[in-house]
Amino acid sequence: MLHIYNTLSRTKEPFKPAQPGQVRMYVCGMTVYDYCHLGHARMLVAFDVVQRWLRASGLTVDYVRNITDIDDKIIRRAVETGRRIGEVTEYYIAAMHADERALGVQSPDREPRATQYVGDMLDIIGKLEQNGLAYRADDGDVNYAVRGFAGYGKLSGKALDDLRAGERVAVGSAKRDPLDFVLWKAAKPDEPEDTKWPSPYGLGRPGWHIECSAMSKALLGLPLDIHGGGPDLKFPHHENEIAQTEGAFGGTLANIWMHCGPLMVDSDKMSKSLGNFRTIRQTIAQGEAAADQADYAVNPREAEMLRFFIVRNHYRSPQNYAPDNLVDAQNALDRLYQALLNVVPDGSPVDWNSAQAQAFKAAMDDDFNTSGALAALFELASDANRTRSAQAAGQLKALAAVLGLLQQDPASYFQCTTRYSAASLAQGGATASNELDAGQIDALIAARAAAKQARDYAEADRIRAQLREAGIELDDKPGGITQWRRA
Ligand SMILES: [Zn+2]
Repeated sequence: MLHIYNTLSRTKEPFKPAQPGQVRMYVCGMTVYDYCHLGHARMLVAFDVVQRWLRASGLTVDYVRNITDIDDKIIRRAVETGRRIGEVTEYYIAAMHADERALGVQSPDREPRATQYVGDMLDIIGKLEQNGLAYRADDGDVNYAVRGFAGYGKLSGKALDDLRAGERVAVGSAKRDPLDFVLWKAAKPDEPEDTKWPSPYGLGRPGWHIECSAMSKALLGLPLDIHGGGPDLKFPHHENEIAQTEGAFGGTLANIWMHCGPLMVDSDKMSKSLGNFRTIRQTIAQGEAAADQADYAVNPREAEMLRFFIVRNHYRSPQNYAPDNLVDAQNALDRLYQALLNVVPDGSPVDWNSAQAQAFKAAMDDDFNTSGALAALFELASDANRTRSAQAAGQLKALAAVLGLLQQDPASYFQCTTRYSAASLAQGGATASNELDAGQIDALIAARAAAKQARDYAEADRIRAQLREAGIELDDKPGGITQWRRA
């Protein structure tokens, strides 16, 4: 039986959806004002693996991941670049979808946008006002009164006073308590017109937290089986969602809270101010991704390496991004693909009674222990290499599909260049400009075949050596076919 670590109870719990067989899962998505970075990649892949495993376990899943398309950062970006809010958000939504496709992340079942649910948000704010949990402040904002909600702090596991100690009240703030947060922001005269909605409190826009209370209830109903998000959302965002939803409707917002761990860069927190900020497209684009195009050409070998890099780590553990770790991930993924290149898989579905599939399942059922599940894949790869069994290779490919891995054609995979090899790192991480392209390589292989045909073995060996010099390894197959791969 599947067990999931619940941030709320701080224990692994047996997973029992409220309606047997049906999972209602809500994950907080992106604020669309910039390109997705590697921390986003981690969140996207982590919950993609979760929903894939729930479905592979025979459950029906309704997976909702929202888009925050109104927010201070979006407004700032729109004003700075002279664009409408909708232009900024459409662009970065398309860019996010391009990143997801590159990483093999399946689209959520529904992807609601905050601006489509302002009416639902105002309904909740009205209920909170009736319940004495919301007040209009002197500056025109409507705030949540945290001291009125007894459960405040239960998710982050902190008492109100401890949480309060970290907060400072801004001078002139109209909040009654430093932890009170904004439900509805009053419009300011200098703000663009497309940031203003009518409300009983005058023109304004919703605070950030209220959108998830509105969208999760409107689309999935309460309680959610799983509510997930990135590590920095536990407090205050998710704490505030609980206060809003449970304060307005009673009951429980979510039975299980899941948070993925942080992604560090060289053991530091990734942040724009530290200058160690990396986007997904910087990491896996074929060449440079154009700065003004949402979509981009992806290097499929590197893109799957990034997914593999994330999946091999347990989703709750901190993960460190460092060049050596990516090289290590690329090498490990190469080993799995090498097995599929050596032995053609038989195309059979997963045999869940096999020892490896059982081990895979036991690992995944233990709070999505993907590193344990990958161990089963490596075992199948050595089986396939050792016994040349098409069935072992077939099981490798079929089980890997559950994790969204190993579905590329192995020969094409190895024909892609990768920046994540020790040699290319030594050259500064760039792909060498004198590297041969596929057309040049094919031409040299044809010339070598012609030389062999003419019994000019010296010339054939010279071409092989020339290719090896350029990092291309040849593999002569029966029937005169020569496969090549980049070392
Ligand atoms: Zn949220």
